[in-house]
Amino acid sequence: MAIRLYNTLGLELQTFQPLEKGKVSMYHCGPTVYDYVHIGNLRSFYMADLLRRMFEFEGYEVKQVMNITDVGIGGDNDEGEDRIIRGLKREGKEVTLENMKELTEFYTEKFIGDTVKMNFLSPHVLPRASQHIEDDIRLIQELESKGFAYTTSNAVYFDTSRTPNYGKLGGIVQGDGASRIGTNEEKRNQKDFALWKFNTSLGYPSPWGQGFPGWHIECSVMSTKYLGQPFDIHTGGVDLAPIHHNNEIAQSEAACGCAYANYWMHNEFVNVGEAKMAKSEGNFITMRSIEEKGFSPLAYRYFLLTAHYRTPTNFSWEALESAENAYKRLKTLMQMFKKESDGKEGSVNKAYKQEFLEAIENDCNTPEALAVVWKLGKSAGDGLSYPDAHATLLDFDRVLGLKLSENEYEVTHVSRAVNDLLRDREAARMAKNFSKADEIRVRIEALGYNLKDTENGQELEKI
Ligand code: AMP
Ligand code: ZN
Repeated sequence: MAIRLYNTLGLELQTFQPLEKGKVSMYHCGPTVYDYVHIGNLRSFYMADLLRRMFEFEGYEVKQVMNITDVGIGGDNDEGEDRIIRGLKREGKEVTLENMKELTEFYTEKFIGDTVKMNFLSPHVLPRASQHIEDDIRLIQELESKGFAYTTSNAVYFDTSRTPNYGKLGGIVQGDGASRIGTNEEKRNQKDFALWKFNTSLGYPSPWGQGFPGWHIECSVMSTKYLGQPFDIHTGGVDLAPIHHNNEIAQSEAACGCAYANYWMHNEFVNVGEAKMAKSEGNFITMRSIEEKGFSPLAYRYFLLTAHYRTPTNFSWEALESAENAYKRLKTLMQMFKKESDGKEGSVNKAYKQEFLEAIENDCNTPEALAVVWKLGKSAGDGLSYPDAHATLLDFDRVLGLKLSENEYEVTHVSRAVNDLLRDREAARMAKNFSKADEIRVRIEALGYNLKDTENGQELEKI
């Protein structure tokens, strides 16, 4: 079956054709490590992980690169303040290269911790921008020698008027960009962007003067260094498409004289109310607060799976709670299937696998994939054997990444005895043996819990 992906380059669903048969090369714009990442950021890394898992499930050999922006002029506005310097000031630290390193290492570690909690597979390469300054300089020199770069008093700029297709990604009509990035009289065109920005007091040496590389050049360098050019898929949040990604395309294609990436995929935002979750909005939530409130990080993964990656999703604690309830119910089902299998190995059910594949091959349609999961859950023990149900869901979990073979709730939330009873009751209900289900309810209540049957399954409350 063909995999269809929505390509922002062309704004349409396209059948995926890899550059090399059976292989996929992917680059994902990673975090700027000047602070904790928020759960909106995590949606873009979740999408990267989902793609990786889907391709591996389909038998592809994947090479995945995600950068860490630990230096450089961040953001769309070249004239704005460097985010890492802003991070140092926020923490009351002196602005030095040493302190930049210390700050970014701290937040890189925190970021990696979050990715483990979210059960993201580790990218094959996780390059740091700070370790690629020489490569940045070489690429800028190449652009300069080909007539695409010019120097002003504050920076080396890319001349966008030299590339006729500038702004081709996302069908974005590029005006002259003056309102976007502030007017700079020395620039040939207001939409020109900095490749290297001078800084007399701090920075790295370069042929043009001390300073820092631009954020866009860093991504162009780190993607092609590890994947070659062109490569298959480039991803990021939808806010990166208009400027950051169009700039990456412009400079990489100008230097090489060839295509940069064939498919561009962008995740929509996690919003809070009407607003995008963002540091600047002050409405952001981190993985730490999710855990402090007693949620499993994987409940957030389940929450993300319930929406298609191209649909904006609204985060609220109530929404996370209902995702967690569904997630717990799924885990309880898995345990019940395992118990009922009584050590018997099952095999993957072909019909359900086919339906699951159709969902994920349809531009990674995870809500549809979850619908297949629940349909399977309901038919287990009735047409589908418990061992096969168990084996099939474990197989799907290679894409879902929900750790369905484990049950973290068992130990932390209720005692093993109550958990066993819950599982038995779920089994009785699935088997429509309501008198047995009622009998088990009485036993659960005797252990000190109120039990409610909700849309999301059984819910316990300590009396
Ligand atoms: P940054 O660290 O700001 O460079 O962002 C890392 C990634 O998170 C980028 O791909 C952004 O587009 C993405 N991102 C930022 N805010 C959100 C949000 N609220 N929802 C989804 N993705 C986001
Ligand atoms: Zn990038």
